Amino acid sequence: SDRNNHFNFSGGPGALPESVLNATQAAINNVPEVGLSLLGISHRSEWLRNVLDETEDHLRNLLSIPKNYHVLFLQGGSSLQFSMIPMNFLRGSRKIAEYIVSGYWSIKSVPEARKEGQVQVVWDGRDSGYKRLPKAEELVVSSDAAYLHYVSNETVEGLQFSYLPGISNVPLICDMSSDFLSQSIPIERYALIYAHAQKNLGPAGVTVVLIRDDLVDTIPSDLHTMLDYRTHIRGKSIYNTPPVFALYVVMLVTRWLRKDIGGLAAMAEINQAKADTLYKVLDESGGFYQGHAVQENRSLMNVAFRLTDPNLEPLFLKTAVENGFYGLDGHRSIGGLRASLYNAVTQSGVEALAAFMLDFQQRYG
Ligand code: PLP
Repeated sequence: SDRNNHFNFSGGPGALPESVLNATQAAINNVPEVGLSLLGISHRSEWLRNVLDETEDHLRNLLSIPKNYHVLFLQGGSSLQFSMIPMNFLRGSRKIAEYIVSGYWSIKSVPEARKEGQVQVVWDGRDSGYKRLPKAEELVVSSDAAYLHYVSNETVEGLQFSYLPGISNVPLICDMSSDFLSQSIPIERYALIYAHAQKNLGPAGVTVVLIRDDLVDTIPSDLHTMLDYRTHIRGKSIYNTPPVFALYVVMLVTRWLRKDIGGLAAMAEINQAKADTLYKVLDESGGFYQGHAVQENRSLMNVAFRLTDPNLEPLFLKTAVENGFYGLDGHRSIGGLRASLYNAVTQSGVEALAAFMLDFQQRYG
């Protein structure tokens, strides 16, 4: 089982907790409350309503989500949010939407917004090769913007914000796909947060959107039904056929986080220790391993790095798999290597990887 979980360092799908996998397996055979396989239960059943209600309850508890935020379970991944956000909050507006461009995923969000209205890129990390994030004082933002959009954790480059960008009266919108539920966040400062599953949250198919209810008032009335957030608020996330399987696993993951881990403060501590363990290997390798991100913007979720001799990387990956370490290849857009340390990756799994990397360096360094 280690091979499926503790030693799965993939950027996505992320590892799942052992107990969640076991419960999922049992549910595929039979959900006792219903007497059917998980894969055969109607999305109009009371059982699914309860699954969604329980998940929402866990999320509200974990993140201290106030009553004036809606919790939505949507489809289309975070990529669809790149479009829905400007459709709902920029279309027809005389205001300008501001975007921070800090890496692969924020680059992708901008052209979608430009199709709906005026966009201002307030910072672009291109000149640094997307190796660093802006310092707060480098961000010049307008108090009159429609919203400010940013990606809290750039999954590909391994860059993570450690502060909240923007100013308090401009709606702050965040793509939290790859660090959602990894730590506590000041939820009231955000107007909208979205995160797809396939990392900390569970298998692909569900995208969680947290949206403050005053934002909903300004949505234009001519949007396609499925692309209007109000449809999903009214339909309580079951407007059309939802991904029942993925929703069930997300419920199990949030239950695990709350009951087994004990909440996000505990989770954050575990995640910090895992990242410290791995970055130490990079920092003490005398340059054999080189991290992509500058030290102060390093991600606790995605450790992107290279070997100083790139010719050794294929051997590194091959040897890693032989030793049971999976998913260590970097994203296809930048190559290199990447170890993703999502919530379900254990400290002992990271220590095993660290030992492997030290051994590899000893042999080939
Ligand atoms: N945003 C971030 C930060 C991501 O890491 C990803 C995918 O990995 C996406 C957006 C795109 O998500 P999806 O594939 O669900 O559309």
